[in-house]
Amino acid sequence: MEHFPLFLDLRGRRVLVVGAGLVAARKIALLRSAGARVTVVAKAAHPSVQAQAERGEIDLHLSTFEPRWLNGMWLVIAATDDEALNHAVAVAAAERHLWCNVVDDAARSSAQVPAIVDRAPITIAISSGGAAPVIARRLRERIEALVAPSIGALTALARRRRAAIRRTRPQLAARRRFYHWLLDGPVHDALRAAQPERAEALLAQALNEGESPVPGKVLLVGAGPGDPGLLTLRGLRALNEADVILHDRLVSDEVLQLARRDALRISVGKTPGEDHEATQRRIHALMLEHARQGLTVVRLKGGDPLVYGRGGEELLALRAHGIACEVVPGITAALACGAYAGIPLTHRGLADRLTLATAHRSADAEAARTESGHTRVYYMGVERLGTLRAQLLRDLPADTACAIVENGSRPEQRTLHATLATVLDEARAHAIASPALLIVGEVAALGQELAWFGQTLTSPARAGATRAPEDGALLAA
Ligand code: SAH
Repeated sequence: MEHFPLFLDLRGRRVLVVGAGLVAARKIALLRSAGARVTVVAKAAHPSVQAQAERGEIDLHLSTFEPRWLNGMWLVIAATDDEALNHAVAVAAAERHLWCNVVDDAARSSAQVPAIVDRAPITIAISSGGAAPVIARRLRERIEALVAPSIGALTALARRRRAAIRRTRPQLAARRRFYHWLLDGPVHDALRAAQPERAEALLAQALNEGESPVPGKVLLVGAGPGDPGLLTLRGLRALNEADVILHDRLVSDEVLQLARRDALRISVGKTPGEDHEATQRRIHALMLEHARQGLTVVRLKGGDPLVYGRGGEELLALRAHGIACEVVPGITAALACGAYAGIPLTHRGLADRLTLATAHRSADAEAARTESGHTRVYYMGVERLGTLRAQLLRDLPADTACAIVENGSRPEQRTLHATLATVLDEARAHAIASPALLIVGEVAALGQELAWFGQTLTSPARAGATRAPEDGALLAA
């Protein structure tokens, strides 16, 4: 080991910072968040440091550094841009056997400040010993993403009840089991669900009556539209907690690759010959079966789980069987396709209303409002583009701008710009296929200017392009 990690209790202890520029200001903030009494010596001070001194939060001395400033200090940080001065501080500290960190200067430092993941009272520190701070910071980002914020509250709760846990579980083995139960069981779930009082009550109950078995649960997780960068941090954590992942066909491989390696993965897409209801029954049964074994099941759906994903039905089914559930939203296709095609779904002067609809229900009056200033986004529209277009044309002018975004946010993304008059022919000419989303409204045209991702197709389609057969599976009218 090159460096010995140690966590310092700085509360109420004096720390000297030499320098008062921006770099020093960051260190001062860090030290203060750990409760240190900070003294700053510098020839000049950044206004933010000055302001802290004026508020009496730190002692600021506008003077030159002398070794006597080290009297009574527990730790020293040299954060000036003057190498000779930093060196002098480090030497003076070493003479007194005081730990000294020289910012960005590993060679002169006897102590390193690590990259930190703060889940107080849990602290995770990563150091490269000054060899490559960027690598340490990258690791920090990963850990930051994986460690739930609720772990802090859970640890604090365990600390408050530590004596009771000891009293009720004098045996080490029983105590250890209890802590595992705290982490994996309903107390932590309650904290994650922002219900601290319920967490307290569950803990108190377990102390008196013994811990309940860790129940299985289902997390309904939105995988987003495909680009793994659009998965939420909570979604990523869920994928790493999962014992079983039930995923749709629409979920991209890149997202699945982020999941825990040893999780059981089951693709639950519709199988040939199976009707939608049978698929849905099979999914409900799989969720129940695994959750009842005490497993953590992630039901992973494309986009958002509660937008055209039958997620509501799945929640109801789970509730009916008393299975605990969580929902982690995802970026729905409408938002992703708008963003990745450069189409603002609302835009001052062009659209102040947004409707999400499916082509399956386009006959609804709601779907075809005649007012302008309205953006309509149709899910599952490709197969029924002909019917949908005909219905829209009853209320909207033929030159209404529209766009089809195919494979939104994925490397193969194509955006077709057209009008209601031309969209069907264009879509056929370019052999647009599912998954694709139809955006109708004036804003659609903005995408021609604002496109920044993937391929943009503008009319007219290449002459001689192969036409999909009129009665093809896709684009049937
Ligand atoms: N729950 C999903 C929608 C499921 S319905 C969500 O919130 O996005 C399936 C429809 O979503 C597809 O037919 C298509 O219209 C749309 N869709 C999903 N992912 C898409 C993508 N990456 N690009 C374009 N459309 C997409």
